[in-house]
Amino acid sequence: MTEAMENLENLPLREDLRGRSPYGAPMLDVPVTLNVNENTHPMPVEVVEAITREVAETAKTLNRYPDREFTTLRKELASYLGHGLTENQLWAANGSNEILQQLFQVFGGPGRSVMSFVPTYSMYPLLADGTNTTFIAGSRADDFTLTAASAVEQIRHHKPNLVVLCSPNNPTGTGLDLSTIEAVYEAMSEHDGITIVDEAYAEFAQDPSQTALTLLEDRPLLVVSRTMSKAFALAGARIGYFAASSAMCDAVRLVRLPYHLSAVTQATALAALRHRTQLLENVEDIRSQRDRIVRKLREFGLEPADSDSNFVFFGGLKDEKAAWQYLLKDGVLVRDNGIAHHLRVTAGTESETSAFLESLEAYLRNTG
Ligand code: PMP
Repeated sequence: MTEAMENLENLPLREDLRGRSPYGAPMLDVPVTLNVNENTHPMPVEVVEAITREVAETAKTLNRYPDREFTTLRKELASYLGHGLTENQLWAANGSNEILQQLFQVFGGPGRSVMSFVPTYSMYPLLADGTNTTFIAGSRADDFTLTAASAVEQIRHHKPNLVVLCSPNNPTGTGLDLSTIEAVYEAMSEHDGITIVDEAYAEFAQDPSQTALTLLEDRPLLVVSRTMSKAFALAGARIGYFAASSAMCDAVRLVRLPYHLSAVTQATALAALRHRTQLLENVEDIRSQRDRIVRKLREFGLEPADSDSNFVFFGGLKDEKAAWQYLLKDGVLVRDNGIAHHLRVTAGTESETSAFLESLEAYLRNTG
């Protein structure tokens, strides 16, 4: 390779990838990391032991390819979700990022488009770039809410091949009404478009029964995407999944890599699902830390959005960049999503949440 080639822009890249930036939440080594919406509660010891046992057993079989159909995992996921779902309607991949990528690969691609309503999860445009799908940035109201009427109007105008509704939405934290999702589905069906509801944070919702899983029956173009990275505290294991029609699972089989879900991943997911009662016990505490953040920020005179997730998005900061730096100096890392006067913070353990609140209160006192 010549020296000149060592610069990315000198490589013979696809033209549509030139000048693009990779996903890049900062990875800084600080005591209180509340910037990527992980579950920061320690993993219960029994669950660590169960995962270790299951993975040790699997290690003996790693000379073989894993179960390409991960049928046991799909059964266990169907049993966790309920709503009468069967394993034929479940699909899993390496994080819900890969779930979305596979769906974009099958239903997007050159000459096709995917729409979402910004601000929303920053990976959607990047996944669109990677699959050569045109990203259409739909808009929200000034307070970041999305009404059915506005979504339907924008969909009828653009007729995208796919729409992704993030509910609860990242970074704003608020969930969509099921009636809005139904209206979007109807508008998308008019031109045979696919509706994906990204429910990465569903378990934290104020009312978790308000899930798009309840809409799956008789809606063959609907996909509900979930992850074990958040409520299940398994971000490091990379396990996402979707529920949809069995035809949708056949569709992604066309693009998945053979044996994409490693035996270690499958073993980890199964052990976690079988111990879900213990594992999900922390969800309640995360919810209460989240509600505590919203209450406190209101007391501080800031403007937190209502949250159905494990994080809080808040406005009212004079200078969000200065606030971000101040928190970092105190060892607290939060997320600047590039939205003026706003920051986003993950609800951590009680002590992490206290560290965040104390630092932010001191910052506000110092800056008046
Ligand atoms: N969807 C949303 C809305 C997210 O916020 C995230 C992660 N932050 C993901 C999907 C991807 O998560 P994972 O790949 O870990 O399942």
